Amino acid sequence: MGTSLNIVENNLHEVAVQGRPYLFHIPSTSLFEPGDLVGDIIGTLRGGEHTLHSLCDSLAGRYPAEDVSGALGELQTLQLVAGGEAVAEHSPPLELENFPLTTVVLNVNTACNLACTYCYKEDLDVPSAGKKMSFETARDALEMLLAESPDQPRYNIVFFGGEPLSNLPLLKQVVTYAEERFRDLDARIDFSLTTNATLLTERTVDYLNEHNIGIAVSMDGPAAYHDRNRITVGGKGTYATVARKVEMLLSRYTARPVGARVTLTRGITDIDSIWDHLFNTLGFAEVGFAPVTSGDIASYNLEPEELVEVFANMKKLGEKYLDAALQDRSIGFSNLHQLLTDIHEGTKKALPCGAGVGMVAIDHEGDVNLCHRFTGSELPRFGDVSSGLDKDGLNHFLNQRMEQKEHGCNSCRIRNLCAGGCYHESYARYGDPVKPTWHYCDLMRDWVDFGISVYTRILADNPGFFNRYLSPRSAQS
Ligand code: SF4
Ligand code: SF4
Repeated sequence: MGTSLNIVENNLHEVAVQGRPYLFHIPSTSLFEPGDLVGDIIGTLRGGEHTLHSLCDSLAGRYPAEDVSGALGELQTLQLVAGGEAVAEHSPPLELENFPLTTVVLNVNTACNLACTYCYKEDLDVPSAGKKMSFETARDALEMLLAESPDQPRYNIVFFGGEPLSNLPLLKQVVTYAEERFRDLDARIDFSLTTNATLLTERTVDYLNEHNIGIAVSMDGPAAYHDRNRITVGGKGTYATVARKVEMLLSRYTARPVGARVTLTRGITDIDSIWDHLFNTLGFAEVGFAPVTSGDIASYNLEPEELVEVFANMKKLGEKYLDAALQDRSIGFSNLHQLLTDIHEGTKKALPCGAGVGMVAIDHEGDVNLCHRFTGSELPRFGDVSSGLDKDGLNHFLNQRMEQKEHGCNSCRIRNLCAGGCYHESYARYGDPVKPTWHYCDLMRDWVDFGISVYTRILADNPGFFNRYLSPRSAQS
């Protein structure tokens, strides 16, 4: 009597792409074509109880016993087949002593010159009441970054607001300081910002270009969509100004590809025409969509049936992406680009994002927040730029999330890609950032399946696409 064998369903997801079966190895987020023997082993084990001996007997007419036993050994190494009890993936408690912090987000001004209706950042102020970060606070934030995480080859500074260009003098001071400081350390420093574009001038664009500062523009599509929510303090739509500024920006700025970030709120699901306008008409290199499912103002959240439509429309645009990729072109659809990058690189996330681990946000007073979306919120801070990170607090927070996720996400096939979802979405929806975002899991799983099928089709017919279009992008981000 040998040990009985069983499939570890928790680690295995099968996807058929154009009639061909693929196995998605959940623990490592990797994909492979099983081949006949592996397919038959899995089919046989699913069909009834087997030991190694009886499995070899069942497959004896088709494969020699040593081939069956070799393939079974590989499946066991991958934890796709186990003897006896199923193996459960378990995340050990985190105990981070040295945080791999490489990114600080600086909230350089709490004010924004616009009054977008869906934006309710807790610390957002009208222009006259903006609280600006001082240079001393920004400098201490960079010194904290270096003290917490010395000897890294590369660091990132992200300028955020409000509108980051509304405190251009500080931004320039920080760039001058950081360029020299990091040069002396022989480390690379990378700057980036997200802007509403309205304050861009030719001089500012030339400055951003000269210092290789990455730019993303918040823009919601053609005027009919953009002007619904992205308005001035006086209530006027900003499309005409933003489109003019974007044209100027894209004609002068050559340092890096410029992306558009689209916020999809209630009533707006038309992904294709928004992408078409931003990519083809205005000429952005990439367009990324953020569907609002748990915004700070609930009335802007997409209705459940609209969210279903958004994902269906993302898949339609994804088909266009696929057609272009097979002709070796990219249509700059960031959401799919990112998913394919994760699948290609076998990304395995224990946590949903770098917030509180590789990245923190510093508010205008110098306090440490999980990320830019938490500045001004009720969530307790995690230290400050003078005393450093509150590591106990961060460890406690991250472990609470790991524990909740462990209970609710451990049988989910995309657990190592989603890892429970955005802390801020949970905070806005449930008032509890450690609770996973369990309100649209089926849509997310379906989206990942779609990504897997696009990935395999590109892999089969134009494998060079990944090195040409995905790898340079990851090196930049
Ligand atoms: S939040 Fe939902 S989709 Fe994400 S890992 Fe958990 S169960 Fe899966
Ligand atoms: S918590 Fe959410 S908003 Fe903040 S960095 Fe993570 S994914 Fe982004």
